[in-house]
Amino acid sequence: MYHVHHHISGQPQPSSSGRTADIFNPALGQVQGRVDLGTVAELDQAVAAAQAAFPAWAAQPSLARARVMFRFLSIVQQRSKALAELIVQEHGKTFPDAMGEVARAIEIIEFATGIPQLMKGEYTDQIARGIDAWSMRQPLGVVAGITPFNFPAMVPMWMFPIALACGNTFILKPSERDPSPSLLMAEWLKEAGLPDGVFNVVQGDKAIVDAILAHPVIQAVSFVGSTPVAEYIYAEGARYGKRVQALGGAKNHLVVMPDADVGQAVDALIGAAYGSAGERCMAISVAVAVGDVADTLVAQLAERVQALRVGEGHQDGAEMGPVVTRMAQQRIEGLIGQGIAEGAVAVVDGRGLRVPGYENGFFVGGTLLDRVTPDMIVYREEIFGPVLCVVRVPDIAAAVKLINDHEYGNGVAVYTRDGGIAREFVRHIQVGMVGVNVPLPVPMAFNSFGGWKRSLFGDHHAYGPEGVRFYTRHKAVMQRWSDSIARGPEFAFPQMT
Ligand code: NAD
Repeated sequence: MYHVHHHISGQPQPSSSGRTADIFNPALGQVQGRVDLGTVAELDQAVAAAQAAFPAWAAQPSLARARVMFRFLSIVQQRSKALAELIVQEHGKTFPDAMGEVARAIEIIEFATGIPQLMKGEYTDQIARGIDAWSMRQPLGVVAGITPFNFPAMVPMWMFPIALACGNTFILKPSERDPSPSLLMAEWLKEAGLPDGVFNVVQGDKAIVDAILAHPVIQAVSFVGSTPVAEYIYAEGARYGKRVQALGGAKNHLVVMPDADVGQAVDALIGAAYGSAGERCMAISVAVAVGDVADTLVAQLAERVQALRVGEGHQDGAEMGPVVTRMAQQRIEGLIGQGIAEGAVAVVDGRGLRVPGYENGFFVGGTLLDRVTPDMIVYREEIFGPVLCVVRVPDIAAAVKLINDHEYGNGVAVYTRDGGIAREFVRHIQVGMVGVNVPLPVPMAFNSFGGWKRSLFGDHHAYGPEGVRFYTRHKAVMQRWSDSIARGPEFAFPQMT
């Protein structure tokens, strides 16, 4: 049994609250550790440390900050297996999948090492006689990140490498389900030469989130998690005058056109629907079968779903692990039951799966529901488990309408051999990230990530150039030296002469 504390001013710090949350090993279904649930006073302490560290950190040349990121990059690259181990242990995903998570996180650090280039402003010589103008981007101050359980290393690293490289100081409030990676990252940042107080971790639940939102010193909040909480964070953060980006839930569709390579579409669907047990915000949870492709598609999917290898994250050949908690397992199984009661056809029913040697684990087998309709709960709600729904539609127009009518708009994909169909789909679909014959169109670190509609509240997408904009303020400067005194007061807008 281990204990996960805060990390404040470069030091581990236990909470004085006496409140903790259990950390489970989801494959074993057993409590393996406890995480402190911090107090408002402890958040205040972390904010004070971050506020004190801000002036010196922001004053460092961007190249000096980039060099800290280079050293951090090298540490994460060398020790990525240690980080992936912690992810497997607390989240339950397979080891190769956890290594994939770390690899995507590394790409964001790589992007952040280019910060001197990314923060460059624009300069205009001689906007009027003797006057030059330029723009610059400056850090905001103390900023905070609140993150979900499903990517305990990658999602925090969507945020803090860029925020820190831009010159901000940071408070991370990780998910209480899998908090250990946050402390390893904090230790490695310190080892990379990050000054104490620049990066702090406060463990906790809603009480800490509310304290972050209300704290007058915190300038901006990045949130990733479920939609109800994202909406709350956005509204509350705005009420307190903060800059907020709040990424929420998803229901991602993959459209299979009758002309598609069905084998390729099936491969894509199996990986995208069942990888990480469906606990990805970019997981495909709806296959939209257009026209007469449906029967072939469902038959091929069924065979593959039945053959899925489910197990503990280190087991040889395991393709997916358990879901995160007993509550998640029960919720997913309950939704499958409701879907069937509402008329969905359970082609493969993964409820009640027992993995030998891990009988108490939170496993749900791969599930395939056919003849799902838009009024069913399994279509409307984000299930966040290994459940793929098949909706049958007559044509591409019906597919586009179906997707555009859904409240979420995170990711989407179309499988077709017809360039014209693909082009029209890309232009008309109301979704933030679109794949053409690509199932999970997750943008690279140098682009930006974000959904539309109720999958994202705020103006900025995450990481990439949007991340730099989110974590900096634009300043416009005008300067005159030569003839400033000679002109006397001017009461009208100056005219160009
Ligand atoms: P969650 O919303 O339950 O928790 C996210 C964070 O918010 C955690 O740190 C948690 O402690 C905190 N929190 C939980 N309830 C709260 C409340 N009532 N008030 C204030 N704070 C609260 O999400 P989760 O279950 O950890 O993660 C899964 C969700 O995250 C899914 O909906 C998934 O789609 C979404 N997600 C979205 C993206 C994206 O990029 N859009 C990426 C990853 C995950």
